[in-house]
Amino acid sequence: MATRTLESRFERMSVNDENDPGDGSKYQKTKLSISTVTASQLSQNARGGNLLKIALQNQNTTSTVVTVPSQAAQWRPNVPSGINSPPRKPVPGSSRGSEELARVERKSNPMYEQPAPKKFHLGMFEIGRPLGKGKFGRVYLARERSSGFVCALKVLHKNEIQHGGGVERQVRREIEIQSNLRHPNILQLYGHFHDSKRIFLILEFAGKGELYKHLRRESKFPEWKAAQYIAQMAAALKYLHKKHVIHRDIKPENILVGIHGEIKISDFGWSVHAPNNRRKTMCGTLDYLPPEMIKPGSHDNYYTDKVDLWSLGVLTYEFLVGEAPFEDTPVMTQRRIARGEMTVPNFVSPEAKDLIKRLLVLDPEKRIPLDQVQKHPWIIKHCVKGERASVRDSKSTGSKSSAMSTDRDE
Ligand code: ATP
Ligand code: MG
Repeated sequence: MATRTLESRFERMSVNDENDPGDGSKYQKTKLSISTVTASQLSQNARGGNLLKIALQNQNTTSTVVTVPSQAAQWRPNVPSGINSPPRKPVPGSSRGSEELARVERKSNPMYEQPAPKKFHLGMFEIGRPLGKGKFGRVYLARERSSGFVCALKVLHKNEIQHGGGVERQVRREIEIQSNLRHPNILQLYGHFHDSKRIFLILEFAGKGELYKHLRRESKFPEWKAAQYIAQMAAALKYLHKKHVIHRDIKPENILVGIHGEIKISDFGWSVHAPNNRRKTMCGTLDYLPPEMIKPGSHDNYYTDKVDLWSLGVLTYEFLVGEAPFEDTPVMTQRRIARGEMTVPNFVSPEAKDLIKRLLVLDPEKRIPLDQVQKHPWIIKHCVKGERASVRDSKSTGSKSSAMSTDRDE
């Protein structure tokens, strides 16, 4: 009965498996060492959104053999056609806390040891609740049946992509670039597969959803939280730029939040491999566009990874003020960006103001480099080594810690 409920949920979502031959042969391969999902487990999931509960439990476990999404940074089940394996070496440029987390996770991740190659198909996944809807598809919470590994499955419909003018190339680029990245503050793409109608992206599950929603809910972030987010952004961008990837679309809507409160940059649809010699594409929201990308007449439009520094400045401002610095009518926004016209309100601390002003510099070459962002007094002041925003969150709502309260601004 309950199993039927799950089946009917599948039907409603129309995510049936066209790659599964139906005789179970493909399936069989993945079930060699499997703790098969039993009917009763399935029915539990069907009844009460237990999949989510499992996901959350998984993510809070670091010492048992349960996998957590961020552990999956180490999970490289084989990658079917078109996906390159990212290197296994430790992530450079990450904050110490993230590195430690990754180390603990790697140790306890059974998937890390798994050598057997796998080809993905829909039958390998148990589909949970919808996580959201994007322009070209939906995202579902999912669980890989053989390992119990929880992830997010993004489903893109081929016909919508093909008619979306250039979107196909954008998706291809997103897959190519994102599957080569591995950093605790970058949403991991584990793999992809497709059937005749759809493309499926297997993504790291970001348990706390969109940063944009957190920001709207809180209006603006306290300085300590903003500083910790910006430090994580700087670490992720440093890693990207080292790999010659420019994101080009940094904004709160493209940042997700992991279960530990850590941020995860997503949406690499507009990112490029530097140096950029593509034709000019008007991308990103106007608010976050740097002056060198909106300059009229510059058709060859040469820009570098410094565009992400500008966006980081806009992000810092929006975190602290609650709105973007050049928010205005489209014409005025463009004009103000070109002139770098903005004022930081007085409730923002002098240190934060200093960082914003060093990032929002018209001349791309004169923007403060990421190394120095990481060492900026505002970041140093608020980022106790290895500490994450969620830790402070729980401390601020729970028992008061004197060590914590010394460097909090509120
Ligand atoms: P666009 O189509 O322009 O990229 P979008 O970013 O909103 O728009 P998706 O990336 O498809 O679209 O995601 C839709 C929503 O699903 C997101 O806004 C987010 O709320 C949720 N979501 C997407 N990926 C994940 C994930 N890995 N973990 C948790 N939630 C996710
Ligand atoms: Mg998106």
